[in-house]
Amino acid sequence: MTNSEYDLPHEERTRRCRRALADVDADCVVLSPGPNMTYLSGFTDEPMERHLLLFVPREGDPTFLAPTMYDEQIRAASWVDDRRLWDDGEDPQGHLEAIADALDLRGGRVLVDDRMWALFTQDLRRTLPDATFGLASEVTTELRIRKDGTELAAMRRAGEIADAVSADVRALGDEAIGMTEQELAREIESRLVAAGGEGPSFEVVVGSGPNGAMPHHRHGDREIGPGDPVVLDFGTRVAGYPSDQTRTVAFGDAEPPSEFEDVFEVVCEAQEAGIDAAEPGATAEAVDRAARAVIDDAGFGDAFVHRTGHGVGLEVHEPPYVVAGNDRELEPGMVFSVEPGIYLEGRFGVRIEDLVVVTASGCERLNRSPRHHRTG
Ligand code: ZN
Ligand code: ZN
Repeated sequence: MTNSEYDLPHEERTRRCRRALADVDADCVVLSPGPNMTYLSGFTDEPMERHLLLFVPREGDPTFLAPTMYDEQIRAASWVDDRRLWDDGEDPQGHLEAIADALDLRGGRVLVDDRMWALFTQDLRRTLPDATFGLASEVTTELRIRKDGTELAAMRRAGEIADAVSADVRALGDEAIGMTEQELAREIESRLVAAGGEGPSFEVVVGSGPNGAMPHHRHGDREIGPGDPVVLDFGTRVAGYPSDQTRTVAFGDAEPPSEFEDVFEVVCEAQEAGIDAAEPGATAEAVDRAARAVIDDAGFGDAFVHRTGHGVGLEVHEPPYVVAGNDRELEPGMVFSVEPGIYLEGRFGVRIEDLVVVTASGCERLNRSPRHHRTG
């Protein structure tokens, strides 16, 4: 079968999900609003207190249980035809019982969304007292870990937008001096949207001077001074798929702090080494090891306080994690970040991050903006 036989990639993904259910000997996966539901059905919403569940059985058609007010939205977004609707004021439990019978789930093995609220997992347990339960990630992780053409196209575009904004921010040069981190973060957010992104893919990081030494510092009211190293970590979404890249720059012509140039060079080399190690058949931990070895050899091992990277897809952080102990082999289509950093408490931080996609022979960067620290 080829993809062209399907109107949408979601339908083909659902077929693969059903085969995966058979492989792990499960009867059904039940999803709540979130990345798994989006991935298989095309329908997206925030988690909510109303029962909105997607049942994907190993055999038979997928079925939504949804509030009536969502009927049109689901029809517009999803290829899944079977919708059981319940009205506000009605108890959805009766519908749960009916679905359990229709899909023959009593006594089966049911996988529930890893992100499903306990409110709904408890209902499912009450409805299916003889069933056994597992997590949806038993099937969804493997489905989502290699990106298809639709996903890669969205992520390439999201990467281009982040790159363009990164170049714009670098061009501010002296103008950025005196701005607060928060002002620069707001500027980045509005530029991401103006360039065609769906807003920031996570809260923008502007870590200036000593704040840059905290890897997940977001932004505060500190004013950016001349020569301050500034960690800029941001991305946007296109068709729901995020970008995520980091550059560390020093605005203006003033001298950055002593040791900054050396640290910067080490991080650049570590990032290159990580990217060179990313190829099919290599393990995720080998990429971490390659980047970490450069930083260890330069004597900054204790200052590299996080893993080298994380997979990126519908979620900004998802498998494969580029971390010691992860012996998962890399395969074409996997997308992850390579983002080593060195953090010197009370002084400054340096991180450089690009997303890469594994190709048949190596990997390709999804970010191409300049990586040096000079601005203007
Ligand atoms: Zn990042
Ligand atoms: Zn990242």
